[in-house]
Amino acid sequence: MQPINQKLYRPFWTPDDSSQECFNCKTAFTTILRRHHCRSCGNIYCSNCTRYKQSLPQLHYNEPVRVCQRCDSLATYLKLSQSKVVLDRIEASKGFCKVTLDVESKKLIIKCYLSSLHRLLTAYEFNRTIFKHLSRAIANLSDNEIYKIDIIEANLLDPLLDFLIDVYKDPTHYTNTNMLVQSPTMECISGSVNSITSNSTTSSQSSYSGDGSSTNSLNGSTDLDDTESLLNVCICLEHLAVIEHQIIKNQLGERCLPRLIELSKLSFSSQIKHSISIVLLNLTKNSQTRDYIMKNNGIQAFLMNSLGDDIQESSSEAISILSTNSKNHRKIVESGALPPLILMLNSMNDKVLQYTTFALSNLSINPENQITIAQVGGINPLRNIITDKNNMNNHILFNTATTIFNLSTNSLYT
Ligand SMILES: [Zn+2]
Ligand SMILES: [Zn+2]
Repeated sequence: MQPINQKLYRPFWTPDDSSQECFNCKTAFTTILRRHHCRSCGNIYCSNCTRYKQSLPQLHYNEPVRVCQRCDSLATYLKLSQSKVVLDRIEASKGFCKVTLDVESKKLIIKCYLSSLHRLLTAYEFNRTIFKHLSRAIANLSDNEIYKIDIIEANLLDPLLDFLIDVYKDPTHYTNTNMLVQSPTMECISGSVNSITSNSTTSSQSSYSGDGSSTNSLNGSTDLDDTESLLNVCICLEHLAVIEHQIIKNQLGERCLPRLIELSKLSFSSQIKHSISIVLLNLTKNSQTRDYIMKNNGIQAFLMNSLGDDIQESSSEAISILSTNSKNHRKIVESGALPPLILMLNSMNDKVLQYTTFALSNLSINPENQITIAQVGGINPLRNIITDKNNMNNHILFNTATTIFNLSTNSLYT
């Protein structure tokens, strides 16, 4: 698997007269304190801040040349990432992850190291620890608006999702992928991501699905590593799915969505389910990626997830959007959507009620669906909504009345 777009990078050589101070320590340049270019990033530093030496084969510097501290670290991780020794590659993934907390390093990674990350994910056998660090690195990178297209184009998420599907479907699949180096979890996730994942510790303890005993016997925390990788991938997908950029949407729909839907059918913590349903909902809102949801049986993915109130909200909203297309009416019902939708009619959440009744008002246009709605016991909950004196929401009442009217047009009921 090759990255879709492996960009050729040449550093922009900052002109001497455009900078009056060191890019790092901000000391003003004088006739004594001279300017020095980092050969890797092209920024201008004082001699002390460019005291590092690295060969940069990717830029055709085969002998060590002057680089800044950031580029020194990155060049080291790049070399480690190409090592045949797994511990070196773990060090590389850890290092790349750590530097994603630094704004300038982030830019450099996006410009010239994404293919190294891709290589770490694909060139050798799967390794949980590498995946954990890199998924975190990718989540950190994806919180920056302008980098999102690069992340999608570098094709970093597919190998992660494929690994997670395999490992969650069959926990014995990668039992040989022992965890070689243990590190504290969530040690270096960036601030904004941290806020999203503030509950990750609690969720990761109860979220492992299936029989994890075989992986646990190798290392007590391997399943937690996988949970963390999955959480990181979800965070990244959440970041990407909200971007109104059709290329990103289409790539997500074509490549990530089928994998995510497959994953969503396995059982996870409510936080992961929530995260998956947000991604799926965002792709449902887009007219082009909506079709991928229907094609890949995404309805079932929503329904599997419709446990918590917040998840009910996104599931019912997604189904209400899909129900606006009459071509989907039968498919939605055949996916088993009606029993959960009818159940959601008891929700105390007005948004859930509004989306659910709207979906039912559309689905009940189809004569076959009219019969199914009655068969799964939909009439009573609908009647309860109409007769509920406390229900003042006109949209809910209108949708419910429309549904009941549609049902009443069926010759079987008249
Ligand atoms: Zn300096
Ligand atoms: Zn540099």
